[in-house]
Amino acid sequence: MKLYNTLSRTKEEFTPLEGNTVKIYTCGPTVYNYAQIGNMRAYLFMDLLRRVLKYNGYSLKHMMNITDVGHLVSDEDEGEDKMAKSARLEQKSPWEIAEFYTEAFMHDIEALNISRPEIISKATDNIPEMIDFVLGLEKNGYTYEIDDGIYFDVQKFEGYGKLSRNKLDDLQAGARVEVNDQKRHPADFALWKKAPKEHIMQWESPWGMGYPGWHIECSAMGLKFLGEEFDIHTGGVDHIPIHHENEIAQSEGLLGHPAVRCWMHNEFLLVDGGKMSKSLGNNYTLTQLSEMGYEPDVYRYFCLNAHYRQKLNFTFEGMNSSKTALKNLRAAVQKHKGASDEFNDLEKFRNDFNEAVSDDLNIPKALGIIWTLAKNDAKNNEIYDFILKCDEVFGLNLDKEEAVVEIDFQELIDARTLAKKNKNFAEADRIRNEIVAMGYQLLDTFEGTICKPIG
Ligand code: AMP
Ligand code: ZN
Repeated sequence: MKLYNTLSRTKEEFTPLEGNTVKIYTCGPTVYNYAQIGNMRAYLFMDLLRRVLKYNGYSLKHMMNITDVGHLVSDEDEGEDKMAKSARLEQKSPWEIAEFYTEAFMHDIEALNISRPEIISKATDNIPEMIDFVLGLEKNGYTYEIDDGIYFDVQKFEGYGKLSRNKLDDLQAGARVEVNDQKRHPADFALWKKAPKEHIMQWESPWGMGYPGWHIECSAMGLKFLGEEFDIHTGGVDHIPIHHENEIAQSEGLLGHPAVRCWMHNEFLLVDGGKMSKSLGNNYTLTQLSEMGYEPDVYRYFCLNAHYRQKLNFTFEGMNSSKTALKNLRAAVQKHKGASDEFNDLEKFRNDFNEAVSDDLNIPKALGIIWTLAKNDAKNNEIYDFILKCDEVFGLNLDKEEAVVEIDFQELIDARTLAKKNKNFAEADRIRNEIVAMGYQLLDTFEGTICKPIG
C-alpha cells in the first residue's frame, strides 16, 4: 500500500514499524466552539485512513488529542488563549467550554460515521508530561527564557523547515514587525507561557505558574501514548508550516531522531473558492446542514468524491447532487440483494478496488468502481456482499433501502457549460467528477454535450 508523505513529497510504500499494528497520531480539535464542516473534512480523512488500513488487515493504535488549553488566537504566540476567549464571551469557565464543545464534537463524528481513535486524551490531563518534555529540551540546550515564557530556539535545530521547505532566512525576512522583541528569531515559539494572575487555566512548573504552548501538547502526548517513534501523523495542510514544523523540532530536539515516519495532510474545504469564516457567514456546522435537509451521510458522500489531497469547493448544488447520487447508489445496490444472475467478473472489480484504495486512498476512484459494479445489468448477491465489504471503507450505509431518484442530467450539463463560460474551471471539473461518480460520462458531440452510462 502506498501513502503520500508530505515530508518527502512522494508516495511511499507503507510498512508499519512494528508487526501488524499501525501507530497513528491525529491533531484533534480545539474545543472552543462548534466544529465547522471544514474541520470535519480533516476527521473524515482520518477516518478513511483508519478504514483503509483496517481493510488491508492492519490493527490500529491511534491517538487523538483534544486541545483544551494553549492554542492562542494568533499563530505567533500572541493574543488570548482560544479557550479563555470563548469562556469570556460565553461567561462560562474554560473547563465548561471544553466539556460542552468536546461533547458536540463527539456527537458530530458519530453522526458522520467517523470511527473513534483507540486513544483520546485531553491536553489538560497531560501537563506533567509536557513539563518533562520542556525540561528535556532545556537540558539539550534548545530553549531560552524571556519575560512571558520559555521558547524554542529554532536556530539551534538544523532541520527547522524541512516539512514546509521554508528557510529560516526567508522566515526572518517575511516576518511581520515583531510583537515580542525578546524573541531571538520570529519563528521561535512558546513551549511554556507564564500566566498572569487572572489567567484561569494555569499550573505550577519549574518556571512558575503557567500553561503549555499548543505545539508541545502534540509532541508530549505522541511520546506518551505512542512511544519514541510511530508510523503516521495526520492533520490539515494549514498545520504544515508552523504546528507540525514545531512538533518536529521539539521531538527531534528531545529524542535526537524523528518521531514520525509519514506525515499526511488533508487539503482544505473551501466555500465559493475561498476560506470559510464566521465573518463571511459561510462556515456551516453539521447541525446547520441537517436543519437544511442535508443529513451527515450526504456530506460524507460529498467529501468522498474528492481525493483528500485535493481542495474541495463546498456548494449546495454539489450537496444536492450528492444527496441524489447517494440515494441512487443505495437503490442500485439493493437490486443485487438475493439475486442470482450469472456474473463472473467480481475478481476484476475486487482487484481494481483494492488497487484504488491502496494507492494513497484513492476513494473517488474506488467509488467510481463500485458505481459501475452496482449498475451492472446482471444482478447477483455476491455483488451485494462485496459492495457491503467495500462499504467498510466508505462508511456510507450502502445497505440502506432507498428509492431511485431521477437525475436531471441536462441541469448538470447546463451548470457545467455555464461554469466553463465563466472560466470557473474548478466548478466545471467538479460537476464532471460528480457525473462520473454516478457512473456516467460526458461526451462532446456536434449537438452539444451529452451524458452516457460508462461501459
Ligand atoms: P482546529 O480545531 O482549528 O485545531 O482544527 C481541526 C482540524 O481541522 C485541523 O486538522 C485543521 O487543519 C483542520 N481544518 C481547519 N479548517 C479546515 C478546512 N476548511 N478544510 C479542511 N480541514 C480544515
Ligand atoms: Zn497537533
